[in-house]
Amino acid sequence: MLTELSQRQGRASTRRAPEGVIFATVGVSSCYCRGMTENGVESLASVAPISRNWALFLDLDGTLLDIAPSPESVQIPKTLRRDLERAGEAVNGALALVSGRSIETIDRLLAPLRLPAAGQHGAEIRYAREDSVTLCSRVDLGEARRLLTPVTGIPGVVIEYKGASLAVHYRRAHTNGEHLHAWIVGALTPLAAELEILRGRRVFDIKPRGISKATAVERFMARSPFRGRLPVFVGDDKTDEDGFRAVTALGGIAIQVGPNHSTAATSWIEGPAAVRRWLRALPAPRMPVAANS
Ligand SMILES: [Mg+2]
Repeated sequence: MLTELSQRQGRASTRRAPEGVIFATVGVSSCYCRGMTENGVESLASVAPISRNWALFLDLDGTLLDIAPSPESVQIPKTLRRDLERAGEAVNGALALVSGRSIETIDRLLAPLRLPAAGQHGAEIRYAREDSVTLCSRVDLGEARRLLTPVTGIPGVVIEYKGASLAVHYRRAHTNGEHLHAWIVGALTPLAAELEILRGRRVFDIKPRGISKATAVERFMARSPFRGRLPVFVGDDKTDEDGFRAVTALGGIAIQVGPNHSTAATSWIEGPAAVRRWLRALPAPRMPVAANS
């Protein structure tokens, strides 16, 4: 797997640390990723610098932003907007945020920056920053919201209704996730054919069946400026695995952020701060060629 990773990223060299950990070094020395070799040895490899021929898909919470006690209390690092802007320019505009949040909320968090984005796990999409938002599903989540309302009686459990999807957050609750999941599955039985429950970090996302971060990636990849580029998806959560599978199906790179071990990921990076350093460490812009050279 390390060999495969090295081939994908290029310019990699490897060394074996005394404790048996394998390192691969590919330019951005401060950003490492973790994986397992075929014989079970943990490996670390740095993520390749952003390449001009990439189409870059970035999750938001837990990937670019540190997880906060509640969705409203996330902090936006000072340099993030500028770094995203620069990264977008580096890939000729082929950078999109792919998040469980609504595009309206993404815009509010990053204002005045506005980027191509897929919100609500792909239930809505904006192909270019100047475009309006397109809904990708007509499933009404109002009934699901009504069926789930009793769960808000548990202290610390909050329902976030986003229109085309909804989320049950329990970061501040002391409830058992398994029990809560079983209750939600039971409550939504009448809508089981239409809806899907995704389990994230102390959150259950409920979204229309057939809509996912994979469908969002596929929609972007069918259009300019994404079309024909190498897709790279960066995400931290179970809900990002659809995005991982979509990019790897196209020969791309799937970067797992943080402690989750995803079988769909091709590389790992340690956390949101490392992702932000990686974004900042873009290769220098190409110098103009002199007319007489
Ligand atoms: Mg996330």
